[in-house]
Amino acid sequence: MKFKPADNIQDLQYFGEFGGVNPSISDSSTYTFLSAKTMFDTFEGNADGCYLYSRHTSPSNLYLGEALAAMEGTETANVAASGMGAITPVLLQLCDAGDHIVSSRTIYGGTYAFLKNFTPRLNIQTSFVDITKLEVVEAAITKNTKVLYCESVSNPLLEVADIKGLAALAKKHNLKLVVDNTFSPLSISPVKLGADVVVHSLTKFINGSSDTVGGVVCGTQEFIDSLKSVNDGASMLLGSTMDSLRASSVLKNMRTLHIRMKQHSLNASYLANKFEADGLTTVYPGLESHPSHTLFKSMWNEEYGFGGMLTLDVGSLEKANELMELMQHKNLGYLAVSLGFYKTLFSAPGSSTSSEISEEEQAEMGLTDGLIRFSIGLDNDIKRTYQMMKACMKEVGIL
Ligand SMILES: *Cc1c(COP(=O)(O)O)cnc(C)c1O
Repeated sequence: MKFKPADNIQDLQYFGEFGGVNPSISDSSTYTFLSAKTMFDTFEGNADGCYLYSRHTSPSNLYLGEALAAMEGTETANVAASGMGAITPVLLQLCDAGDHIVSSRTIYGGTYAFLKNFTPRLNIQTSFVDITKLEVVEAAITKNTKVLYCESVSNPLLEVADIKGLAALAKKHNLKLVVDNTFSPLSISPVKLGADVVVHSLTKFINGSSDTVGGVVCGTQEFIDSLKSVNDGASMLLGSTMDSLRASSVLKNMRTLHIRMKQHSLNASYLANKFEADGLTTVYPGLESHPSHTLFKSMWNEEYGFGGMLTLDVGSLEKANELMELMQHKNLGYLAVSLGFYKTLFSAPGSSTSSEISEEEQAEMGLTDGLIRFSIGLDNDIKRTYQMMKACMKEVGIL
């Protein structure tokens, strides 16, 4: 049966305390107990539905978590104060000192820096591999490996992970497959393809208004409970908790995610096809020239398309900067990092969001100086946008 992520979100029903159509916001850091015994039981993790302290959880955070779990088809979820605040506890919960991680080498710069520079201090080592080659991934697995880590669509190179293939490897070697699905919410449902844990930066498409950072971990009840354990839960103890007011605002934005994703995909697809036909070096999973185009289609929830991210290689950082400045000047978007906004956002990842990755490693993975990453906006008239972008490209001598 087809998986229907947006329908699953919409099937949830909750009212505010006084019948408001939005759930009431829990404006408390701590909660009263009618009996001392219940407080004890809650600390032991045995009092379902009781709230203790908002670093552990709050009603507003649970509502948002439920919506995200429904979207990913997991038993439950735990929201966090940022994407990194979701990703880092997951990895620390799954790995002890001496353990090993096999990770895609094209991942978000912050995650890369965490695995490359930070976790070695805890004696957790990571091998970075080309995630599109299953035999290379398998060869990197050692007896200490605990986690396979990847992004369904990678930042910034838009490589696509074969989640079913990776899940089979994880199963064979008794590993946990953790997938960052930030670039492809609704389009790809990693747990339905065999992943164990899905993480998102809510900062991007899911919240969609570039007004906050946020994150989520979607997984089994058992795993999420372990993250929240008052005794040894990495989320609980590292303390990256989302504020209730913010959780309620992210939930409200999430209600239009399906409409926004369709429009992001439609617009990005239009531009990618035009740019490629113009002879520009364009990477977009929706293009037949993309090495994983067919793979993407074997995994997707079709109605949400190939997503809103595309890259252009314009040859040099100078040209990239010139073009981005001109496009901003013409109000075609903003020269900014991040993604998933109503406006198009563009940046040159080599010198910004992926600058944590050394120049040699960037070269090895194919991250060139002239690469521009676009997060295509919700433009109502994308044909007009294309004409205006083309004029900018002509002006800087790329076309
Ligand atoms: C932005 C991003 C993150 C980190 O999220 P924050 O909310 O900035 O902490 C992680 N993974 C991907 C793919 C991202 O784009």
